[in-house]
Amino acid sequence: MRLTTIGTGTAAPHPHRVQSGTLVEAGNLRVLVDCGSGVLWRMAQLGLDWGGITHVVLTHFHADHTADLVAFLTAWRYGQLPPRTEPVTVIGPVGTAAFVDRIAAAFAPGLAGFVPGFQVLDRVPHDPLVLPGDVSLECCPVPHTPESVAWSLTHGGRRITCSGDQGPSDHFADWAAGSDLLLLECSLPAALDVPIHLTPDLCAEVAARANPGTLWLNHFYPPVEPLDIEGIIGARWSGSVTRATDGASISLAPGNGPSLSG
Ligand SMILES: [Zn+2]
Ligand SMILES: [Zn+2]
Repeated sequence: MRLTTIGTGTAAPHPHRVQSGTLVEAGNLRVLVDCGSGVLWRMAQLGLDWGGITHVVLTHFHADHTADLVAFLTAWRYGQLPPRTEPVTVIGPVGTAAFVDRIAAAFAPGLAGFVPGFQVLDRVPHDPLVLPGDVSLECCPVPHTPESVAWSLTHGGRRITCSGDQGPSDHFADWAAGSDLLLLECSLPAALDVPIHLTPDLCAEVAARANPGTLWLNHFYPPVEPLDIEGIIGARWSGSVTRATDGASISLAPGNGPSLSG
């Protein structure tokens, strides 16, 4: 599997970070986890195949994680010649189908028909969905908005977990345990702590409890970036910590045991 952080930012405009979006390539699938504003343009800038996404997976409905969904659908229909003919599936927590209907009502009644074979799947937590190519998807509820979930993608004996936005949750940390790669939000400094996001100290608690193979961080509001995030986490947990940037990638070779490269 290969993970590329397309957008590592938030609702706060930033010169180097667009809003949330992460590409996970697993087998023949190209899964985009969240699609906030700027993610489509960043993919084009990075030379990534925005036309080849097979699945869009949503963690929750906040605009900084969903605003580009209509941009993707419009680009697949009108932004390439010939228009896309391969199907695409949007997968999200309960309420996703209704959310997509509301977007279509706002932008274009035929929006769902822009891509032949377009479908939307609502998923309940802890009910694995096995996609073609033996890629398994599972979500876990997290404290943020009522619908918010984190997602795990498992393929070839490897597991990648994407936290989405969330406050602290032992349930999530226990569920994420054993992940080869944990992509965890790190929104705010402790001075601006709110119950629905993580600070570096809270990321350290998650890392110590989940003990992933490697920890990548994203979703940085500007006030958290000057902090010694690696030092704060390193005081609690001795594993590898990476601040994700837009366009950064990491590959996980199939199998069990340490495998990180790239
Ligand atoms: Zn967010
Ligand atoms: Zn959010």
